[in-house]
Amino acid sequence: MIFCARKLTSSARLYKIRQRADAAGLVFCHSEPVPENDRSAVERKEGMNVLTTRPRGTSDILPEEVWKWRRVETVLNETAALYGYSEIRLPVFEHTELFQRGIGDATDVVEKEMYTFMDRGGKKSLTLRPEGTAGAARAYLEHKLTSWPKPVKLYYMGSMFRYDRPQAGRYREFHQFGVENLGLTDPAVDAETVALAYDICRRLGLRNLKIRLNSVGCPQCRGAYREKLRAFLRPVLGELCETCRNRFERNPMRILDCKNDACRALTQGAPAVGESLCEDCASHFQEVRNHLDRMGAPYELDPSLVRGLDYYTRTAFEIETADLGAQSSVCGGGRYDHLIKDLGGPETPGMGFALGLERLILIMEAQNLFVQPAGGCDVFVAALGLRAAYEASALIQELRGMGLAAERDYQAKGLKSQMKAADRLGAKVVLILGEDELSRGEIVYRRMDESAQETLSVEAALGRLEEVKGAAEK
Ligand SMILES: [Zn+2]
Ligand SMILES: [Zn+2]
Repeated sequence: MIFCARKLTSSARLYKIRQRADAAGLVFCHSEPVPENDRSAVERKEGMNVLTTRPRGTSDILPEEVWKWRRVETVLNETAALYGYSEIRLPVFEHTELFQRGIGDATDVVEKEMYTFMDRGGKKSLTLRPEGTAGAARAYLEHKLTSWPKPVKLYYMGSMFRYDRPQAGRYREFHQFGVENLGLTDPAVDAETVALAYDICRRLGLRNLKIRLNSVGCPQCRGAYREKLRAFLRPVLGELCETCRNRFERNPMRILDCKNDACRALTQGAPAVGESLCEDCASHFQEVRNHLDRMGAPYELDPSLVRGLDYYTRTAFEIETADLGAQSSVCGGGRYDHLIKDLGGPETPGMGFALGLERLILIMEAQNLFVQPAGGCDVFVAALGLRAAYEASALIQELRGMGLAAERDYQAKGLKSQMKAADRLGAKVVLILGEDELSRGEIVYRRMDESAQETLSVEAALGRLEEVKGAAEK
């Protein structure tokens, strides 16, 4: 028998001790009630009910927020279309190997952050997509878009998943918009992609924008660069975090974007990749800049800018805004000329960027860029009495058929409470159906903005609503 004399406040610990006792065939006693199962232990430990609390790192987007998302999505869809992009919708999970190969084994995303699980049946490992480019590249090969005229311009929007520490604007299920421009190495493609990202930010109204631009070179210049970097880091190798020590031989460039404070301090002053370009990469980068100069997209060169994922080559960029302090990056992207070949396809260069919608909306809120649209109710129908309530049902359907947003008070109390309901909904017009008016085929037509009303025939009222609708659409 085990008796736990010490008072344990954590029911999760109690549960664990009980489990061990059970496994050893011992009876476990305690002065406190012992949790029966893991779920109740977790609930008590975190003080939450898992049935009424969403998982950590996820978010519910309530109606009072959704209009902001729609506004952003509209700008994204419209701007992408202006630049000749077509939308592609991809699965939320893919084979795990796609991300291991596409993103790279030695990245934080693949090493620590993926939601990976065995499919039922236990033969296939699947992963919730942590980003969109690998899936787009996979679809490009699977559907033989290789035969389309080049460049193939695709964009996507949707949920991505990373097991990361949640913080402001960063979630485990988050939403990204991204574009992929596939098939050409032409520097004009790079410049246009940067300009598109900048244009989106501008059209959303973002202020204090800054484009940081760099070239991270090709495998050829990177070989030489890695050696320079190793030479710089070798004296402090023992002081780097364990992950970075493992990266030192495999992929020392990853050490530059380690989030560990000690590693960040130790990499200060490291040689910059943008300063070690081969001749081809240097002239490609110069041409990208020539195009951008003509396009009026203001950029700053940042030789230390490295993108977080292995597949980037040559042009890399980030767009920042100054309003969220340290968390100021709005979007980032770059060129990836070897990804599709790495996935087993033909040599296919690509260029793209992704933009996190949660972060973007947070920044737009901080910059006061959202203006709430007017209420969605065009006409409110108030009915007095049961016969009028039936007529209201018919009339509302007719109004909706005309393309007007129509609403009613289902509980149809007195006129006063129905007028209040109309007010709350922001109705532009209220139609009042009373028994007397109905018997004469009439209706009371009340304009809410002028607080003026008159009695009209039903046809006249409908005719006037056509005009209201026409005016609203102009
Ligand atoms: Zn190069
Ligand atoms: Zn580190």
